[in-house]
Amino acid sequence: MIMSNTEQTLSIIKPDAVERNLDKEIKEIFKNKGFSIVNEKKIKIEKSEAERFYKVHETKPFYNDLCAYLSSGPIVVMILEKENAVLGNRELMGATNPNDAEEGTIRKKYGISIDKNSVHGSDSVENAKIEIDFFFKD
Ligand code: UDP
Ligand code: MG
Repeated sequence: MIMSNTEQTLSIIKPDAVERNLDKEIKEIFKNKGFSIVNEKKIKIEKSEAERFYKVHETKPFYNDLCAYLSSGPIVVMILEKENAVLGNRELMGATNPNDAEEGTIRKKYGISIDKNSVHGSDSVENAKIEIDFFFKD
């Protein structure tokens, strides 16, 4: 029996990339790697929303700056779908710090710094569901 494991994951093109007009180019990368963009919207969120989104990091020293940053300008939020989309997207994004990211990854190509690292991606199937609901449940 052929087992398929189609998953959805949440991707965000962060303010540093949208500001540089890289959103079209980054979406093309996802599509060329076989991801379907099943829903997307360009939005600007409030700091309080960023704080809810990144609540898992609330005890971290970078939490305040991170939430200020994510709410500092327009972002593009997308639902990506593919076989094993969660891990596949994490691999395509590359390491959190662009300096550590592998050649060919989005963060290597576009990331400016650990905070301005151009993209977010869910880190597990469970969190993907929570994050997709966060932005797309009406
Ligand atoms: N971050 C930061 N400083 C750090 C670690 C993380 O500014 O020392 C930011 C970074 O933009 C990262 C986000 O916080 O994308 C969330 O951190 P996480 O460890 O979840 O990294 P990710 O899952 O985005 O790779
Ligand atoms: Mg994370």
